[in-house]
Amino acid sequence: MERYVLIGLRGSGKSAIGRRMAEKLRIPLYDTDALIEERANQSIPEIFSGSGEEVFRQMERDVIASLQKGPCVIATGGGAVMDPENARILRQQSHIILLTADARILLSRIQGSSRPSLTGLSALDEIRHLAKLRMPIYRGLADLCIDTGSIRADEAAARIISLNGMQRRDPDLFAETTATISSEIPDDLISCPLIFGITGNPVSHSRSPHLYNTLFPECGIPGRYLFLPAESAEDAILKLRALGAKGLSVTIPFKEMMISCIDEPDEDALAIGAVNTVLSCDRRLYGYNTDWIGICSPIRHLRGGDALVVGAGGAAAAAVYALQSLDMDVTIANRTEKRGEALADRFGCTSAPLSSSIHADLIINATPVGMKEGDGSPVPSGLLRPDTTIFDLVYTPPMTPLLREAEAAGCRIIKGTEMFIHQARAQFTLLTGIDPGIERIREVLS
Ligand code: NAP
Repeated sequence: MERYVLIGLRGSGKSAIGRRMAEKLRIPLYDTDALIEERANQSIPEIFSGSGEEVFRQMERDVIASLQKGPCVIATGGGAVMDPENARILRQQSHIILLTADARILLSRIQGSSRPSLTGLSALDEIRHLAKLRMPIYRGLADLCIDTGSIRADEAAARIISLNGMQRRDPDLFAETTATISSEIPDDLISCPLIFGITGNPVSHSRSPHLYNTLFPECGIPGRYLFLPAESAEDAILKLRALGAKGLSVTIPFKEMMISCIDEPDEDALAIGAVNTVLSCDRRLYGYNTDWIGICSPIRHLRGGDALVVGAGGAAAAAVYALQSLDMDVTIANRTEKRGEALADRFGCTSAPLSSSIHADLIINATPVGMKEGDGSPVPSGLLRPDTTIFDLVYTPPMTPLLREAEAAGCRIIKGTEMFIHQARAQFTLLTGIDPGIERIREVLS
């Protein structure tokens, strides 16, 4: 038997359900907030008012680092797993269960509590604010999600125990679906707590399975990541459900269509119009877009100024969204001008024919030009000035004709592999709740 770690917002039932589970399983319960109070010999409001939140968080880290590895139930404080080190420690040899409930139910359960406000907002607004901040990490970490809104604590405890902390799978449907996947499937896949995959058409070139399957054991994640080719975005979702999979990376040509298959696309995905990350939690599907993060992260220091995006497809939309988040003035130049104009209208920026007269501090190539042997540069050489940064989103090959010309002209260059590495870090964190760090991703992919 392993450890059960209960996570969720305050009022989601962690302590009550944890107590029932510990009684039924005859194993110890560790309630991290109660342990902090016991060790400090002070209540949490006293710690907050006397020493502040940072001291409380350090006490929380100390308590979590000291918890036993063997069978037990751990009921965590709402903010505990937002600390990456706590998340890593709690992940080890554990089933992680996310308990959820509607904001108004949470409010009714915590009303009258003496716990300090973390934000100064009204109680209901604080719940909504913390949910927005914390739920993506909670969902990523969870092996199983249980809505406690309409069930009693003993029912929730019985359900978690009967499922052994894992999502239930139908063996026939599972076998039928794995038979359609041509790549190698481990014999014991059905008992693997967490299944992920990359879907698209084609997917066989993807390096994501190598990345995830290398990082899972290092991070203590009991997961397996597969190639999951599909006919369409809908077909990919059917496969996700049949396998009881937790999440998907989505590549071309499904990113745009995937948005309509998702129950809750986040605001970035909606604005870009594409989903490249899908997460299943209590049968609801959550959708994110990490492509724009992959573009934003390597150029974060370039806030303000003028930017030119060459291309008007999916990668260009993510690029425009990233640049606008950095307060840049964006011009779009696309081969098919009408498509460039339509993208510019969507984002309230400018479109123009590609010419050397455009002023740009940063130029992003969001076309596939540079991938094929014999391709030239998609950017006129007159635009390559020494004070310009050139970011080529093409990542195979890493050094393209555009980057070579730009380097020779004295420009600062950023390779498409940087976008891939940064988007992969954001995606890994969303899918698993664990941040492996940019350098480790770079190493694994190098
Ligand atoms: P897409 O939706 O098919 O859009 C391609 C864009 O490139 C269109 O605007 C198209 O113009 C333009 N284009 C195509 N061939 C061209 C040519 N020969 N000359 C000039 N323009 C041309 O593709 P996407 O999903 O946006 O991806 C674009 C590229 O971004 C990919 O090929 C890939 O290299 C790169 N990418 C990199 C990453 C990464 O992690 N580094 C991630 C995603 C994408 P028209 O409108 O005229 O057809």
